Amino acid sequence: MARIIIISCKKIKDITCVSCMKCFKAIQERQGEFARYQGQELDIVAMGDCGDCPGLVMPKVGLISDLAKAYGRDFDVIHIGTCIVKATTTAKCPIDVEGLAEKLRAKFGKEVVIGTHPW
Ligand code: SF4
Ligand code: SF4
Repeated sequence: MARIIIISCKKIKDITCVSCMKCFKAIQERQGEFARYQGQELDIVAMGDCGDCPGLVMPKVGLISDLAKAYGRDFDVIHIGTCIVKATTTAKCPIDVEGLAEKLRAKFGKEVVIGTHPW
């Protein structure tokens, strides 16, 4: 059983990426960065957004982490959504995705995967 959380772009989530259907489809079909969980159960512990600001991602994940522990729902892997990757490559989001992944690994001691659905 893999226990994951997904961090999304607040500006994209449920606006152009409607209702997170792409990630739910990719999770169900084990596509994109979810292909690594082929043959495994997947527990989506949380789907949270960046808070609309590059500087809020770390404290937001900190809050998710605290709440997950408080509810007995800790997780193993943090996925940085494809939406965030797109925001940095096709728009002007200032998040350094590789740097953010490194900071998340160092601060929370979790595996970090860059990306989610493949579309
Ligand atoms: S553009 Fe970047 S900082 Fe702004 S909401 Fe999206 S991911 Fe967050
Ligand atoms: S990439 Fe995934 S998490 Fe991000 S907005 Fe789209 S469906 Fe939601």
